[in-house]
Amino acid sequence: MVSVLISSGKGGTGKSFIALSLALTALSSGYKVLLVDADVGNPSIKSLLRVNRYDMVSEVKHFKPEIDDLKCTKCGVCVNLCPSHALVLIPKKKLVFIDTLCEGCRLCLYACRYNAIKAGYDVVGWVYRYRHRDLEVVSGELRPGKKVEELIIRKLIEYLREHIDTSKYDLVVVDGPAGTSKKILELLDMVDTVVCVVESSITALQDFIKLLKLIPKGNAIVVLNKVGIDSYTDEKLRSVLKNLSIEWIEIPFLEDLHLFYGGIKELEELNSWSIIRERIKILLNILIKASQPPSS
Ligand code: SF4
Ligand code: SF4
Repeated sequence: MVSVLISSGKGGTGKSFIALSLALTALSSGYKVLLVDADVGNPSIKSLLRVNRYDMVSEVKHFKPEIDDLKCTKCGVCVNLCPSHALVLIPKKKLVFIDTLCEGCRLCLYACRYNAIKAGYDVVGWVYRYRHRDLEVVSGELRPGKKVEELIIRKLIEYLREHIDTSKYDLVVVDGPAGTSKKILELLDMVDTVVCVVESSITALQDFIKLLKLIPKGNAIVVLNKVGIDSYTDEKLRSVLKNLSIEWIEIPFLEDLHLFYGGIKELEELNSWSIIRERIKILLNILIKASQPPSS
């Protein structure tokens, strides 16, 4: 089994498009594929596949304090301890809880000497599964307005470990969150290789270099996406990758891709699908080769 995380230093590089193209290409080549949508703040695979039906497998719950106004003395202890400023004291009047800022650390619950705080719970996200033809997908999703992406990713990983036998699959593709925050660290532990999607721009290059610092040496492969818009930057990116001894493939800027994003055509119906498929097959071969033990 080959497992790969599709990541990018910044949003908008076409990361989910590459994850989906890789999964569909591998399926059409006869591989058994599991696609994991771990971009929990913006899980787009479901809408890219235009899937409406899914099986909810778990609600992700999170601690939230329930304040008893009658018992609260307005002493302010919990306010001073709260690491995320989710509790605000209006002197002599009221203790106010700001739901969207709460990290669920429970410090306020343990700190209150007057039993004025009880444990309550809030649904902050979901884990669900669906199928698109032969493609199986497991996805995490953060409830809009919540800020606990890491918690949803952790629950998604827990679900995969407890309920999915990944050894049944030839390829597990994980569409991870964009950026260089610690959100991707737990996902890195799950996979053999990381594919970094980089578009042709200097800011994308800078973000990619930051992302590379998180990835164990030798575990990164690059997809240069939207090549051909700016040949000067394309050349610069190629020379950086050569210097870093990182393998890469290139996907040209595809004029008909908006038909896919706009919901007019499926990915495999695009005129450019044959180009995408041919390039992605090269990536698939690199991934398979990288997963094989070196011959002695
Ligand atoms: S620590 Fe307890 S009593 Fe003091 S302000 Fe907080 S909830 Fe109220
Ligand atoms: S659980 Fe933690 S973050 Fe939330 S209100 Fe209490 S102290 Fe603040």
